[in-house]
Amino acid sequence: MTDINILRKEFAAFCAEDKLTPYSPPTELQSVFDSYHWIAQDRIDAVRQHFLPGRNIEIYFDFSSGPNLNAAAGIRNKRGIFRINKGAVLVSADLFQRMLSHPDVLKFIGNVGLESYEGQFSEGLLNNIDVLHASRIRSGWPTAPRSPNDPVRREFSMVANNLAYDFLVLHEVAHIVTGQLEFIIKAAGVDMVCEAVSGGAAFYRSKTVRQAIELGADNFAVGLGFTSVMNWSGPVHSHWESFFSTPEQRIYAWCFAIGAVFRLWGLETNIVDVRKRDYPPPAMRYFAAIGTIQLMFETSKTPIKVDFKKIADQAFVDLNESIFSVGGRRLKTEDFNQVYTPEGKTHFLRIRRCMARLLPRLRYSQK
Ligand SMILES: [Zn+2]
Repeated sequence: MTDINILRKEFAAFCAEDKLTPYSPPTELQSVFDSYHWIAQDRIDAVRQHFLPGRNIEIYFDFSSGPNLNAAAGIRNKRGIFRINKGAVLVSADLFQRMLSHPDVLKFIGNVGLESYEGQFSEGLLNNIDVLHASRIRSGWPTAPRSPNDPVRREFSMVANNLAYDFLVLHEVAHIVTGQLEFIIKAAGVDMVCEAVSGGAAFYRSKTVRQAIELGADNFAVGLGFTSVMNWSGPVHSHWESFFSTPEQRIYAWCFAIGAVFRLWGLETNIVDVRKRDYPPPAMRYFAAIGTIQLMFETSKTPIKVDFKKIADQAFVDLNESIFSVGGRRLKTEDFNQVYTPEGKTHFLRIRRCMARLLPRLRYSQK
């Protein structure tokens, strides 16, 4: 049996609880998922090379058929394994394509005159791809989202989607390579983190520990993801020149993309019972992500002269309007500013303290 087949068998067991099996995409999406596989593998290799010298954990990755924004990571037989639901990539790609094909969205990107107001814009922030497709079939529409007519806008939607996907991949890789899973295995006897599923959470001694682990994985993902966007030296498509050339443009694209991920997770935040949840509120995670990068700029020895916060705020406002254009809710400040109340701030500091306490105990060993 080849390694990948051993993995698949393990993976099936790993996912037995929710009856998920290795993913084989529909034929028409095979090439799409092949490219997502390639991107994930590229990231895994980069992390292994630069962050794990001498720490040779193998990491395997596959998709699963779940329709929601969800993922899981685990360590089995000294192998890191993670999977991302098909829904996580399809829902986000769908949203970016719908937004950029709308004539009122980001009018400064490409030639907005090529876009039209006809059809398939009013679905808002549905985050289950099967539900989204079923509703299109009922409306007599094709299941595929409408794609921007303008090639520059089409490329922006793809770049933004890849940045969002990159964050999801790196978040799962972080659970494996930063030693979080080893800590969980020792502390709680659970060898996996299943995102957005509370089942395993009963084993954690404290929800604050679980929240600290999630915020820690976010930190790793945004730090590495953002740095590689700013240092991007790969091929630049000619259509990218107008939106991915300057540091300001790259910051904007990254903030817009990351913001969309957290909007899909529900940025609206109610901090009642915040200590009983598995995750910090999405608004807290989003503002922590932006704050992490802002701190990077403030503490950098060779500061780039850009106003990161101003660009991030503009991307947040533009994203809010873009989501409203495609039928989503336009957020008001009071929908998410509970994270800045005394209770929200106290909880954030509690998680940060927990992260600091965990840090010395997080180490991947090869034993
Ligand atoms: Zn996670």
